[in-house]
Amino acid sequence: MTSSDYKTAVEQLKKYSYHYYVLDDPITTDEEYDILYHAVVAYEQANPSDIIFDSPTQRVGDVPQDKFDKAQHLSRMWSLEDLFNHEELETWVNRITKGYGEVQFYCEPKFDGASLNLIYDNGVLAQAITRGDGAIGEDVTQNAKTIQSIPLTIDYQERIEIRGEVVIFKEDFEKINEERLRTGESLFANPRNAAAGSLRQLDTRITASRRLVFMPYGVGANSLEIKNLSERMEWVYALGFRNPHMTHLCQTSEQIETFYHEMRIKRDNFAMLLDGMVIKVDSVAVQDELGYTVKNPRWAAAYKFPAIEKLTCLREVILQVGRSGVVTPVAIVEPVSIEGVVVERSTLHNFDEIERKDIRIGDKVIILRSGDVIPKIVKVIAAERDGREQVINRPKQCPVCGSELLDEGALIKCQNLSCEARVVNSIIYFASKACLNIDGLGDKIVEALHQSGMVKEVSDLFSLTMEQLLSLEGFKEKKSRNLIDAIAAAKGCDCWRFINALGIEHIGEVASKALCGAFGTAFDTASGEEILALDGFGGEMVESILEFVRVNRNKIETLRRILTPVEPVKKIAVENPFKDKTVVVTGSMSVSRDVIKNILEELGAKVASAVSKKTDYVVYGEDAGSKYDKAVELGITLLTESEFRTLTSLADSTPTAQGSSVHPKNSLFD
Ligand code: NAD
Repeated sequence: MTSSDYKTAVEQLKKYSYHYYVLDDPITTDEEYDILYHAVVAYEQANPSDIIFDSPTQRVGDVPQDKFDKAQHLSRMWSLEDLFNHEELETWVNRITKGYGEVQFYCEPKFDGASLNLIYDNGVLAQAITRGDGAIGEDVTQNAKTIQSIPLTIDYQERIEIRGEVVIFKEDFEKINEERLRTGESLFANPRNAAAGSLRQLDTRITASRRLVFMPYGVGANSLEIKNLSERMEWVYALGFRNPHMTHLCQTSEQIETFYHEMRIKRDNFAMLLDGMVIKVDSVAVQDELGYTVKNPRWAAAYKFPAIEKLTCLREVILQVGRSGVVTPVAIVEPVSIEGVVVERSTLHNFDEIERKDIRIGDKVIILRSGDVIPKIVKVIAAERDGREQVINRPKQCPVCGSELLDEGALIKCQNLSCEARVVNSIIYFASKACLNIDGLGDKIVEALHQSGMVKEVSDLFSLTMEQLLSLEGFKEKKSRNLIDAIAAAKGCDCWRFINALGIEHIGEVASKALCGAFGTAFDTASGEEILALDGFGGEMVESILEFVRVNRNKIETLRRILTPVEPVKKIAVENPFKDKTVVVTGSMSVSRDVIKNILEELGAKVASAVSKKTDYVVYGEDAGSKYDKAVELGITLLTESEFRTLTSLADSTPTAQGSSVHPKNSLFD
């Protein structure tokens, strides 16, 4: 890097920082920022006399905005040095142990949100200040008071600063963005920006509606006698702050590395975004001796997780036609590797969303892939356009059969029932796990069967012969036999599978089970009023069923004859606390949630997917997110898995569970 490159890079970083810290609207990914930042650090180390005084390496955050009153922290707030690999970790650990011998390191999650400093005086929350430039931040006391996990009073009278990160549940972030899309506001790029933006709202009611959460990570000015950070944090949690329950004391870089990998694996299951693990020297005395650089404590570092957001370019948009005829646009992007997976495609939902987000072909975009979630474009970098980008037009013709499309706004549909894409996808759906669960009948095989003309509609599957299959490429004796057997095994299926496999719009597994429970295999003879009377059924669902039955009478009849689905056995559940109750299951359990759902259904409960006033119980496991919070808000009885199991063992005794305790959950992990 030349001196002039350095100056340009500093200007670029300053621009990025302004958008990120001040406007809560980043114009690049953290990864791009970090790469440039580290190039600047390398130059500054080699040329210390050239360092520009306000280079982002020399300061914390950015200047606070004018919209709030400014306020001074009692003691400075800091940023953190980043570590990206084991080598950097070892160097950092060695630097400390060299001077102090055996040192304990306190490891905790690095929540990705906005820093907040809470000043308590005489046991009362006196002021809440954002980090700002480390010395001066914005006074957001009124907003902080709306955050439920910030105690307004604590049982400690001395003046003290409690520091932590204000974060937002990933699920709530999605909801906020959906709402902003509807109201035409610009989208938050990620939960961090949503948390920071929500904390810095002039209208306190908006902050209150965003369900922010405060995760404490340390103390600032204090007169505590407690000598270790780990014990100090236990003391903080005991004051009524949230405990992440994911902290660990380590002695060596190997132990730190092991804990880091554990946390990384659990990262996707967290209700909130984590961008790394923070490692801190546990002894406060050693911390004091190590001191600070202009920007960071020398006794703490952030061991970053690999990026889940990448900058890429939108190359083209292709169209997929689903079994209901809905045409879905899919983005093809410049391939990027995210946590070892090469991402080339991303969902675009629908054309209204493309228009609202103003996504154009050729745009630089930020793409996010988190866990198993389908990658999505979270932001378009409109500032980087050069005029060659192309607007994406709404399609008029079906890309598969060429027939005219029906444009209903958010949904664009191919109405041709014999459109090849619709037929193939409905066969794939018919064979899928939640329908007839036919082993070996995957996408490619269905396409081949359809293309060969052997299977024009689902009923044709049941007349396939060995000779036909053997004539297909890649089909030998064993594979053909297995497929024929698997198809035959679908006969005599549960009644709800038959209903679900028909692919009626708006009718999924839960609704199919309800229809089957109420009307059996002859669900198609039920009247609109009868269906509407079922719990959870609305007008749109009823209309969809009636219309489907009207158009597909013969198809239903043929499949019923071929499949001979079994009528539901009307099990009379023994008296038990869950009989006729509505239950929601959330979080991860010791067994899959489906197992818990099956037990509940056996007991005569209705298992719902969303929490509402009608919910009787919420059974929760680890990392239960907003469903848990909603249940607390509505005062619904919450049961841990073990409480649930205790109550199920009462299946033939006490019919009521009203005495069961409501457990306040103050952790993400318990
Ligand atoms: P940081 O966010 O990397 O780390 C410091 C902050 O971490 C603290 O101030 C605190 O708020 C938070 N934190 C969370 N958990 C913590 C814990 N357990 N203990 C202590 N602190 C904890 O530092 P920063 O200076 O705020 O930001 C730098 C980073 O921000 C960069 O590495 C980059 O990834 C990102 N950034 C991105 C852009 C962009 O345009 N995309 C611009 C500027 C900065």
